[in-house]
Amino acid sequence: MTLYNQTIAELHKKLVAREVSSEEITRDVLERVKDVEQELKAYLTLTEEAALAAARTVDAKIAAGEKIGPLAGIPVAVKDVMSTKGVRTTCASKILENYVPVYTATAVKKLLGDGAVMIGKTNMDEFAMGSSTENSGFNPTMNPWDIERVPGGSSGGSAAAVAAGEAIYALGSDTGGSIRQPAALCGVVGMKPTYGLVSRYGLVAFASSLDQIGPFTKDVTDCAIVLKALVGHDPADSTSLEYEAEEYVEALQRDVKGMRFGVPKEFMEEGVEPGVKQRFEEAIELFAKLGVEVDETTLPHVDYALSAYYIIAPAEASSNLARFDGVRYGLRVEGEDMIDTYMKTRAAGFGDEVKRRIMLGTYALSAGYYEAYYGQAQKVRTLVAQDFEEAFKKFDGIISPTSPTVAFKIGEKVADPLAMYLSDIFTIPVNLGGFPGISVPCGLSDGLPVGLQIIGPTFGEGIILNAAYAFEQALGFKERPSL
Ligand code: GLN
Repeated sequence: MTLYNQTIAELHKKLVAREVSSEEITRDVLERVKDVEQELKAYLTLTEEAALAAARTVDAKIAAGEKIGPLAGIPVAVKDVMSTKGVRTTCASKILENYVPVYTATAVKKLLGDGAVMIGKTNMDEFAMGSSTENSGFNPTMNPWDIERVPGGSSGGSAAAVAAGEAIYALGSDTGGSIRQPAALCGVVGMKPTYGLVSRYGLVAFASSLDQIGPFTKDVTDCAIVLKALVGHDPADSTSLEYEAEEYVEALQRDVKGMRFGVPKEFMEEGVEPGVKQRFEEAIELFAKLGVEVDETTLPHVDYALSAYYIIAPAEASSNLARFDGVRYGLRVEGEDMIDTYMKTRAAGFGDEVKRRIMLGTYALSAGYYEAYYGQAQKVRTLVAQDFEEAFKKFDGIISPTSPTVAFKIGEKVADPLAMYLSDIFTIPVNLGGFPGISVPCGLSDGLPVGLQIIGPTFGEGIILNAAYAFEQALGFKERPSL
């Protein structure tokens, strides 16, 4: 029986019915990794032994008649930006190539506490800066639908792993689209929760006011299951919210009839590829059939979102990345004195995109420019968030294509950072406002997946999961990469 291509919900049933063991599932997934990893390169580190040991622990519990949770015994892949005790955590950067954390990120710890079986750590754009996983300091990851194309980014390894069955589900992080965009490009479900809903403790910070951890899954039901496990207040993260998680799986069954969604007219004026536009228009028609009303709306300041993001995110990154100095973590290149050591270490350890962001951010924060750039960008951010709040007075959610294009060719945009930045034009505004967003497959264009983004108000996870589920069921998208 092929197990690697099944969902969390399906495998859980089989585990409880004792039709399969967690060890069998884990071995099947590891076997799949061996078969396709050569071509995809989704992982940076595999934790085979620990995975099998965790699987056996769950099997012993089942054998003893103990009740297990929905994630127990199910293999998961974790983006290499989350700290894992005793397991190398690189952020796909040379500067952390040999860094082994002494503690585990809360989000990962919660899953492991529920009996999750971690298969390994996945590739990404260095420090989560990018949209294609080509900025990895080690190697790019390939898209399982077409290995000449990128899987998206920055969580490209996690997206590719789930799409190809190298994990049953995965964790990613999303600062400006890094879960939703790769989910769209790889034909899987990806969700960025409300800012503060999932603890960031142990998530290596890129832009702290924007970063959120969230799931990659094969379908919306699994997304609801994983989200439920991740949510919870964490005293170790000062931005973690006190919020009682909804029963997200139950929310899926609610009737969507009478829901109202807005399509921002500004989004449709952007350069959306014809194939993507077509799938999106069909999605609107499908919603109409479900009794969901879709109307045009406006986000008047959204055109400035990308510019504001590329001040705020680099500014926060320049500060967050100051800690990688050759003294405290990872790489150290000895220089003539302390300053020289800092400089040599950072010159050798950071890749081009990271250096670009540090320079931009440092400049934007420097005395004399702070108000003109950072202060101004923060004001724009507020205006963008207010636009969404206004729209949510009339609509239950906002919908758009997740990405303006399908997966692009490896190498196509590496030389043009601005073209790369535009990949997140529809996802970045959501992070600026801290709202939740989900990407769900809405068909293929030229054989490549297209994603539909559903954005909800703060704590609107139940709403967008409900709508995504109804859409998924009505569409019946079952295509998988042929790899
Ligand atoms: N692609 C965007 C960037 O490079 C977003 C990345 C992310 O969400 N981590 O900043």
